[in-house]
Amino acid sequence: MSVWLDVVGQPAAVAQFEAAAAAAHGHGPALGMTHAWLVTGPPGSGRSTAAVAFAAALVCPQEGCAECTACRSVRAGSHPDVTVVRSTTLSHGKEQTKALVLAASGNPVTAPWRVMVIEDADRLTEAAANTLLKAIEEPAPATVWVLCAPSTEDLLPTIRSRTRHVALRVPPPAAVAALLEREGVDSAMASFAAHASQGHIGRARALATDEETRSRRAQILKIPRLMTGITDAYGMAHDLRKVAEEDAKGRTRQLDETENAEMLAAYGQGAEGISAGRVKALAGRSLSELAKTQTQRAARSVRDELDRYFVDFLGFYRDVLTVQLGVDQPLINIDVRPAVEQAAQAGDSGDTMKRIDAITAARAQLAGNVPPALVCESLMVQLLHPVSGSGVVR
Ligand SMILES: [Zn+2]
Repeated sequence: MSVWLDVVGQPAAVAQFEAAAAAAHGHGPALGMTHAWLVTGPPGSGRSTAAVAFAAALVCPQEGCAECTACRSVRAGSHPDVTVVRSTTLSHGKEQTKALVLAASGNPVTAPWRVMVIEDADRLTEAAANTLLKAIEEPAPATVWVLCAPSTEDLLPTIRSRTRHVALRVPPPAAVAALLEREGVDSAMASFAAHASQGHIGRARALATDEETRSRRAQILKIPRLMTGITDAYGMAHDLRKVAEEDAKGRTRQLDETENAEMLAAYGQGAEGISAGRVKALAGRSLSELAKTQTQRAARSVRDELDRYFVDFLGFYRDVLTVQLGVDQPLINIDVRPAVEQAAQAGDSGDTMKRIDAITAARAQLAGNVPPALVCESLMVQLLHPVSGSGVVR
């Protein structure tokens, strides 16, 4: 067993981390180890999984055996010397980062190293990034920072230049399928999900194990094919956004309620001798700050959800192009082959490429905070009537 088994389809990155862990444990060339790391890779490639596996390899006496108490507590999120920061909102703020820097300044409790993992380091605000920069410039002797981001451009150059870079690639479908099979999925389903997810591990897992995710995907894939006129395009754009909003709401509602209850409890709700009104008054400011965070998280969830749909569209049109060009290559969406072939016959490869460009541009707009309604409308219209240079609303 090894923690590296979780890091799917990334032999080069694993080799780099293994060398670092060896150096960190006092054998192997000392040059292999450093105090600040940057793990980049496309969404779903397993950036945080890789970062957490590295953390385990640093705190495990056997350099990541996956079986000892240290390895298991890292995986469970309870190791005292490993902190993993996940942003549920659109940004990591300065105060939050200050607290993290403070926590990183102490000596490790049980392990030889203290490891601070920041998922979504691309969401650090500028002030937060500058706070972090100071900590990375003068790290505590036994502290290791592992930052994760989609690409190196997502971080300030000053931070980038002080980190060692490990790049993950899109994991190949065979590696993703093998992972799912290890997790108990049968091989036909694993292969379908690995291809359909286009290398996004979390998405593959959801497709393989959740009927609702599969049927939602099937519905989404139908949308571009149902449009016959411009009115449809606007209607579909509206529906797409509504579906995304509802899906996102379904996922965040429970979390919001739990947080609100915890906040009120922290201010004494349910305790003896304090009225509900008094609790509300005391908690007022904290509650309104929490509401702000929750609103941001909801907005991010809608964008994430829409991006998943766009990736599904992208896969569909890539398949259409594969058929149109007669490329001998397995389809991404083996389950909708007839629809792919029909779409391939109905148009030419030039139009398909314009559609692919339009979807790629729409994903960039979504990431760049263009309002989702605008992005959806512009995309649907372009899928209906493909134009060169993707007439992008910026
Ligand atoms: Zn271990």
